[in-house]
Amino acid sequence: MSKTFPGGIHPSEHKKRSKKEQIRKAADPKIAVIPLCQHIGTPAEPLVNVGDIVKIGQPLGDSERYVSAAVHASIGGKIIAIEPRLTPFGAKVLSVVIENNGDQDVHPSVRPYPNFKDLSKTDIRKIIRGAGIVGLGGAAFPTRVKLQPPPDKVIKTIIINGAECEPYLTCDYRLLIEQPKKVILGLKAIMKPTDALEGIIAIEDNKPEAITAIQKAIDEEVSHHNLRVAVLKTKYPQGAEKQLIKAITKREVPSGGLPADVHCIVNNVGTAVAIAKALTTGMPLIERIVTVTGGSISEPSNLLVRIGTPFSELVEQCGGFLEEPTKIIMGGPLMGISVPSIDVPVIKATSGILVPSKKELDDLEPEPCIRCAKCVDSCPQYLLPNLLGDASENDRFDLSKSYGALDCIECGVCSYVCPAKRNLVQLIKLSKNELLRKK
Ligand code: SF4
Ligand code: SF4
Repeated sequence: MSKTFPGGIHPSEHKKRSKKEQIRKAADPKIAVIPLCQHIGTPAEPLVNVGDIVKIGQPLGDSERYVSAAVHASIGGKIIAIEPRLTPFGAKVLSVVIENNGDQDVHPSVRPYPNFKDLSKTDIRKIIRGAGIVGLGGAAFPTRVKLQPPPDKVIKTIIINGAECEPYLTCDYRLLIEQPKKVILGLKAIMKPTDALEGIIAIEDNKPEAITAIQKAIDEEVSHHNLRVAVLKTKYPQGAEKQLIKAITKREVPSGGLPADVHCIVNNVGTAVAIAKALTTGMPLIERIVTVTGGSISEPSNLLVRIGTPFSELVEQCGGFLEEPTKIIMGGPLMGISVPSIDVPVIKATSGILVPSKKELDDLEPEPCIRCAKCVDSCPQYLLPNLLGDASENDRFDLSKSYGALDCIECGVCSYVCPAKRNLVQLIKLSKNELLRKK
């Protein structure tokens, strides 16, 4: 029987448009805008200057700080600016701007590593750090940090998150069925430095082809006694870390705690593939899979995209718009964010570009709460979203704190089920930001 967690919802999947589209390479951008902070943590410091000619894979920025990630040139060309540029999150971030000169040579620092078996734990951590790998599920937390839990935390289980429970998105699904061996190699690479006892690839039961592909890749491994697929019930937010761990291991991550507190580390499918690429080719994280979809997109697609490519160029390569867009979202409809401009660049956290049609967009204005408690019944974190929303609307952040706002995983389930269309998740995010700022 498929594993799951209490609560949650099953929204319309909307994956049909793109799920059968094979990954195809997007054209390299004419100008790549590469923000020096695309991750959680300290921004990278520039290592290059305006006027420099850079090659593919060349480091552009790095930081000595522990929680940070390096960034690299995704195309060859001339650096024409290092200046604050608008990112999908709406803020201006110091970015390296490269004008493409068509040079396809890779930087000499990009070298394949010897046989995976010969790499030590330190080597693997060093390669992942040098490659600038972050969580590609959307969180963009530096992966190297995840792979070095505090000494008192024993890691038993590595989970590769292939749930992709967010509606519309199909980038992870395509990786699971097109590159299953890389997923397994990435998983094994994460298991080695953490001394994990088992590696699990978690996939929802609405993706039977992916389950088959991964099972076949496991069976083909010479030693696979500690690798397995966990089949999950199709439900949202099945892919949220805490819910995923609960479903698979029955362990509960404590409030304010981390997966390592219950002996687990969770990484996304795309992250596992990025690790496999870095280990086998030496190529850092300069590209990712992006699902471009929604009712306003002519030809929904799964594209392999160089970091720094403007959203607008990808929409063009998907046949353009069917209708004038009202809203452009980075990610999916539940956890994604509305972007300020179609010219913002793809960053490491860009899993999807969603442009819903007017019909798909729920235009209803929020109405007062009718006290139906649907949000309470559906919250996977057992919170009281209605009261959290009230507290935030009235600037009562003390109440938000006592109602557990900081335990909200921002899954958006409460907003989705609310018949009054209250923007509950936005209100709760506001409280969380305020509480974290005060902290
Ligand atoms: S309160 Fe937070 S965790 Fe609960 S449903 Fe809403 S967004 Fe999800
Ligand atoms: S689901 Fe919406 S209307 Fe119902 S109690 Fe929650 S906030 Fe109020």
